[in-house]
Parts: sequence; structure tokens; C-alpha cells
Amino acid sequence: MEPALSPIRSHHVAVIGAGPAGLVAARELRREGHSVVVFEKQKQVGGTWIYTDEVESDPLSVDPTRSVVHSSVYRSLRINGTRECTGYRDYPFVVRSGVSESRDPRRYPSHGEVLAYLKDFAREFGIEEMVRFETEVVKVPPAAEGEIGKWRVESTEKEKRVRRDEIYDAVVVCNGHYVEPRLAEIPGISSWPGKEMHSHNYCIPEPFKDQVVVLIGNSSSAEDISRDIATFAKEVHVACRSNPADTFIKQTGYNNLWTHSSIECVHEDGSVVFQNGKTISVDIIMHCTGYKYHFPFLDTNGIVSVDDNRVGPLYKDVFPPAFAPWLSFIGIPWQVLPFPMFELQSKWIAGVLSGRIPLPSKEDMIMEIKTFYSTLEFQGIPKRYTHRMGNTQFEYDNWLASQCGCSETEEWRKEMCLANVVRKEAHPETYRDEWEDHHLISQAYQDFST
Ligand code: FAD
Repeated sequence: MEPALSPIRSHHVAVIGAGPAGLVAARELRREGHSVVVFEKQKQVGGTWIYTDEVESDPLSVDPTRSVVHSSVYRSLRINGTRECTGYRDYPFVVRSGVSESRDPRRYPSHGEVLAYLKDFAREFGIEEMVRFETEVVKVPPAAEGEIGKWRVESTEKEKRVRRDEIYDAVVVCNGHYVEPRLAEIPGISSWPGKEMHSHNYCIPEPFKDQVVVLIGNSSSAEDISRDIATFAKEVHVACRSNPADTFIKQTGYNNLWTHSSIECVHEDGSVVFQNGKTISVDIIMHCTGYKYHFPFLDTNGIVSVDDNRVGPLYKDVFPPAFAPWLSFIGIPWQVLPFPMFELQSKWIAGVLSGRIPLPSKEDMIMEIKTFYSTLEFQGIPKRYTHRMGNTQFEYDNWLASQCGCSETEEWRKEMCLANVVRKEAHPETYRDEWEDHHLISQAYQDFST
């Protein structure tokens, strides 16, 4: 294990969640000399990568009284980026020798391999000793009303039915954001007799045998699940609002899978009418329409809020100025390589908390956030895309790296990420098994070995 850096100030920090974000946050905070408690409501580390065939009682996941299943991973899921790009920067996602469990050595392995990697990471860096498993954080208000600084963390421990109420100097929120579903609005849906569900509750294709299924969305999930289901279903139709109105395409290699434009309306007789004029009698509509940020435990008196899926105000997607640095969020940006970004955000938070890395004044942070929001508005980008990064992710990562005194994102990682996007778009069926970027793989492994 690496020696801890000498801290300027050490704090007592609560991390909420032991998924990929919380694990690396715990490591970086401890490296910086802070004392850390990680709260994790599940029995093990790994977050969304803990696959389960349990589903929620409400297939749409809207009933607030339902018991929530955290993972959104389905049985057939393989990662959608290369393993070289996916792993943390200083703990590469390589095939490890000497591990006893059976592993998936493929370049785009299944979800189980990611979970095994995260467990290796936790073991290697002794993270589990900081984690309180089966302990859910239920409320996080400021410790003293009107005072900025410490937080009260209220948690419940499942087994012992114990409720704890503790004070921490700082809270780092790593609760994941693929749990609370977003749904499409469909004219006529209240009287449509078919079954609706969200992809959050999708595990396996067998229950769709001989059914006519419509999936709404154009994400990786819609792409993968539609192909998965097509092996059993009678017909699969993907409705995608970003497609031109007249879109009606039969997927090559399938005789039962079509892509359409969006749904225009649905009717009492079970039919679904698409914008392209096609009408189909449908058994199931699956919303593959993504998720909403959700922090049910956070009580900031409205100072930090989620508005049309904008978590704000946040300086650099991490610190709400009013509470900085005592409250922070890891993993808010999307369309990114998550693990390397979590690692840099964690280093930044740890260094800011110890006083080693300075933050701008509250006024300057607010000013920067306002300018950013105005730029989005000027560019016509809706609020709900505030945290979408895509091409700007490496600029962001490099900014974080510069704050922390780390090296910038490796050239091979940027090029490989881009090559993956292009290949995925052009060959959605085969991009996980066929590639040409062998020179980038060599560069990555050369890097990993130094
Ligand atoms: P999570 O992994 O969701 O972990 C959050 C943790 O917080 C969980 O363990 C949860 O139990 C815990 N928690 C939540 N609330 C509380 C509470 N109140 N108290 C205590 N504990 C709490 N990323 C990739 O890099 N490659 C991929 O191929 C990829 N595919 C994906 C496919 C799907 C279907 C989904 C949903 C996501 C995919 N992702 C992928 C993104 C993935 O979410 C991230 O890789 C990563 O898991 C996010 O890590 P996290 O720690 O932020 O959240």
C-alpha cells in the first residue's frame, strides 16, 4: 500500500456508497490522512455491478413504497468500453494473475468481471475495513441549523435494526445515479391495456417469449436489450425520438427487430402508433429512458436541488459553493469514462479538504456556475443535459489532474475512447469482439507496466 501524504488538516469524513465512486473516494481520502467511514446499504462492495435477478415490485419503479433494487445491470451485460479505458488510472482493469475465481478475460467482459475487479481493488487497498455494510444513510442535514460545516449523518443498520446519529466534518455523496427511472410521456397511456416497465427491472429475455415488445430510447441499454429480447420475442420495435419522423428500419441480421421514430400515441385496443405512420398491436412497452439524480437522504433546505435533472448549484460538478468543501458529489457527469474521473474527483476532494489544494472564493464559484449555465442556455442546451460531457470530459479530467498535481489523461486513452465510440456506432453487433486499435492496446499495456 502507498504511504499516506502528510496532511495539512485531517477530517472525519462520511462517504455514502461503496460502488466504484465510493471505493476510490475512500482510498484517496485515507491516503490524504482523513478518517473515513463508508456507508453501504448492500452486503458487499461494487454498487450497480452487483447483478441480481431480483426485480422491484413495481415494474415501472414509480411506487414510492416499493423496495428498491439498486442494480440496473442485466444478465447479458458486457461493458461498452474497452477494459483498458474502463479501469482506474492507477489500478488498471487487466486480467490479473493469481486470482482463484474464474474470470472473464475478454476485452469487453461481462458485468461479473467488473465486480471481481472492484473487489480486488477493495482488497488491495484495504477499503472494506472502512465500510459499514447493510447500513443505509437515511438523512443528512447540517449538524447545526444555520451553520455551515459539520453534518449529521443518520443511518440504519439492517441486521441489528440500529439507528445511528453521528456528526461528521464532511460528507462525500457517491450513491450512484442509475436507480430512479425517468419515463417517457406517451399520449393515451392511461387507457392502454398492455404492460409497462422500465429497463431498470430488466434481467433476462426469456419472459418475453412470443411477445410484441416496444422499447423506447436510444441508449446502450436500448440497443443491447432490444437484441437480447429479439432472441425470444415475436417482434421487437425500438422507438427513438431523435430519429427522423419517417424512420422505419429493419435491423440487419434479424427478422423481428425494427427501429422507428417516436411513439405518437397509444390506444385502448392495445395498439401503438409511431410517428412514421405504422400501427402495431403491442404487449409490452419498456422505457429505456434513463434515470434521474436522486438524493433522498440529503436535507439542505433547498440549497442543493435537482431541477430538470440539473444538480445544482455545483462548482465543477462536485462542490455546492454554499457548503464547500464540506459537502461534495462524485460521479455526477455522464457520457464519460467513469472510473478515471471518479479517481480524479476523489483526489481533488481529499486535497481540498486537507487544505492542500485551494478552492476559489464562494462568490467566484457562484460566478463560474452562473456563466456556465448562461453558456448552456445560449447554446440551446436543455437543463437536463447540464452534466453531459462527451467530448469535453478529457478537458475536465485534465483540469482536475492539474489541481491535484497529477499527469493528464494518457493520449492512448483518449484515442481508444474515441475509436470505441466510432466502432460502436458503426458496428453495434460486433464492436465488442472485433477491433483494429492494436497499437493503442500496446501503448496502454506499456503504460500499465511502468
Ligand atoms: P453505483 O455503482 O450505483 O454505487 C452506488 C452505491 O451507493 C451502491 O452500492 C448503493 O448500494 C450505495 N447507496 C446508495 N444510496 C445509499 C444510501 N442511502 N446509504 C448507503 N448506501 C447507499 N460504466 C462503465 O464504465 N462501463 C460500462 O460498460 C457501463 N455500463 C453500464 C450499464 C448499465 C446498465 C448501467 C446502469 C451503468 C453502466 N455504467 C457503465 C455506469 C456505472 O453506473 C458506473 O460504472 C458506476 O457503477 C457508477 O459508480 P457509482 O459508485 O457512482 O454508483
